[in-house]
Amino acid sequence: MKVSRVYNFSAGPAVLPESVLREAAEEMLDYKGTGMSVMEMSHRSKAYDTIIKEAEADLRELMNIPDNYKVLFLQGGANLQFAMIPMNLMKNKVADYIVTGQWAKKAYNEAKLYGTVNKIASSEDKTFSYIPDCSDLNISENADYVYICENNTIYGTKFKELPNTKGKTLVSDVSSCFLSEPVDVSKYGLIYGGVQKNIGPAGVVVAIIREDLVTDDTLPGTPTMMKYKTHVDAKSLYNTPPAYGIYICGKVFKWLKAQGGLEKMKEINDKKAALLYDFLDQSNMFKGTVVKEDRSIMNVPFVTGNDELDAKFIKESEKAGFVNLKGHRSVGGMRASIYNAMPMEGVEKLVDFMKKFEEENA
Ligand SMILES: *Cc1c(COP(=O)(O)O)cnc(C)c1O
Repeated sequence: MKVSRVYNFSAGPAVLPESVLREAAEEMLDYKGTGMSVMEMSHRSKAYDTIIKEAEADLRELMNIPDNYKVLFLQGGANLQFAMIPMNLMKNKVADYIVTGQWAKKAYNEAKLYGTVNKIASSEDKTFSYIPDCSDLNISENADYVYICENNTIYGTKFKELPNTKGKTLVSDVSSCFLSEPVDVSKYGLIYGGVQKNIGPAGVVVAIIREDLVTDDTLPGTPTMMKYKTHVDAKSLYNTPPAYGIYICGKVFKWLKAQGGLEKMKEINDKKAALLYDFLDQSNMFKGTVVKEDRSIMNVPFVTGNDELDAKFIKESEKAGFVNLKGHRSVGGMRASIYNAMPMEGVEKLVDFMKKFEEENA
């Protein structure tokens, strides 16, 4: 099949490994001799049971998930988790939030519907361009959990060190850094993320939750579908799950294993990010918008400082086959999202294009 693919720097839904897409295409009409697509298959069938179980097993292996954590494939996007988290975890109706961007802020505002929510740190004073010092925060004595957004997709910042929660449960939104590097799951009570950034198609949320946090003791009125326990008890098959999306996630997990796992991905991701940041740091035209120590290796925002020049760059880059480089409307400028599936070659070519643009427009 002859196709023409662009370099897609979208923040999400985002680029997926080409080999995964090709495999899915090959299996589209007849999945492993079943005579049907995974889209047409009962989620209670034997074939699908194997798909979802393998997906979970591969994710457990990749992330080295301890046995006392449950893995859930959910729906509703990261946004539904903004409500599910307080509804399930707010036993004392108190939670502490660290607000490092719009997604954390949305989660914070949603949690306010359910209890007392303290903003214990924020970087809003400087357009979320850094991660606040979280080594000695004023953690609330009766906080049910401390909440962070670990990689801030819009602003391009990343927690390089987890906050000191002083023994409280840590809840983390990892939507845009999921599987980009090794992680010590045991440091968290709950890690979750929408898969459409770094793993698969929109429609699936993966939540990894410590066993003891899964209880029947949810806030009054919590819908059955919004209790973690419902999905834990039914092994993510309480109702029809986003079956095709989970199948693609499973393929990406296998792809990641074949790449050499998360250690290897971090090595590659560090290299890709360094290539782009090193160029930005020496450029006279382009510059990064984030404090160096807090730079994300997944989302790289940059500006020229001139709106017209930004617009020209976005237009010309698109013509050259680099798409979705326009920054989020709240930051402006450009943003290159360089997730796991963006090949090194894509970043190399982008940097070459930026060099040329700088020369031609100096
Ligand atoms: C994209 C994103 C979200 C929102 O995800 P939805 O699935 O659209 O609800 C939340 N948090 C982070 C960090 C994101 O990047």
